[in-house]
Amino acid sequence: MRIALVTGVSGQDGSYAAELLLGQGYRVIGTVRSIDRVRASPTPLLEQIELLQWNLLDQRELVRILSFYRPAEIYNFAAYSSGEGMYDHPLEIAEINGLSVARILEAIREVDCGIRFCQASSAEMFGAASDSPQSESTRFAPRSPYGAAKVYAHSMIDIYRQRYGVFACSAILFNHESPRRGLGFVTRKITHTAAKIKLGLAEDLALGNLEARRDWGFAGDVVRAMWMMLQEPQAGDCVVATGQTHSVREFCEAAFRHLGLDYRDYVREDPSFYRPLEPIQLVGDTRKLRSIGWSPQIDFFQLVKMMVDEDMGHLST
Ligand code: GDP
Repeated sequence: MRIALVTGVSGQDGSYAAELLLGQGYRVIGTVRSIDRVRASPTPLLEQIELLQWNLLDQRELVRILSFYRPAEIYNFAAYSSGEGMYDHPLEIAEINGLSVARILEAIREVDCGIRFCQASSAEMFGAASDSPQSESTRFAPRSPYGAAKVYAHSMIDIYRQRYGVFACSAILFNHESPRRGLGFVTRKITHTAAKIKLGLAEDLALGNLEARRDWGFAGDVVRAMWMMLQEPQAGDCVVATGQTHSVREFCEAAFRHLGLDYRDYVREDPSFYRPLEPIQLVGDTRKLRSIGWSPQIDFFQLVKMMVDEDMGHLST
């Protein structure tokens, strides 16, 4: 039985990756920052995988884990996520989102260069890039400590690939959402509040820039792309995106419409949610991704409906 190690398994992407890998017949080892915290809110998924507590700063412990389990594949999701916190705690972000990836690569090199590695990199690395759409060869121009740390990790992957022949891949992920998305992200904020409005639990929804556009994909489709990257004969980097953008306004329109409501009656713009710096149009060039046989199973409107339905389900019970 092939073994896969998923770091950050209790987060949105880690949990979708674990589900996919279990479905493919892998034995899944998942690492979390705190087992006690995860045990406090158990999910059926977490009962099907083997959970380990691993502090990303503990290099020796990682070497022990890899030597003991000898995973065939590692998927790295353990990191600070993007969003509003991207400018806070720059040193911790550098340590966790950047240096930890070098630690994993070093541990792979020490234990077994045959372990395949896929990193959740981010479109934030493009930041103020001048080209749009962005592809694997677009120059990085990060604007946040988060983006800069991800660029460092991405560069180390290339170096370990070139220098040591490690099968290391960087999946450059554009925004990817799901019912498991945190409430700080605009998509989930919209679906959760729209469901509350429908149920009479909230009156309105205050948002920032309604014209901001994103390339929003489904998290389950994104982790499938990462798995496919590790099944390729050659390691490489790949933009993981849908290639299409929608505005925050369009997201609102679709979410409220699904509930039989008109977003214009409830959504108001609140300047306190405006961002000082918005990236240029972030939209992925998906040619390479499609060339490995990937296509999304969930489109934008299905994604919105899935998120609204799930929030309605939670809030009505
Ligand atoms: P990001 O792409 O990682 O920054 O993901 P977010 O979901 O946090 O933001 C996506 C876009 O939605 C950004 O351009 C925000 O400016 C815009 N936006 C508009 N209103 C809001 C809001 O109330 N909250 C958040 N988080 N973003 C908002």
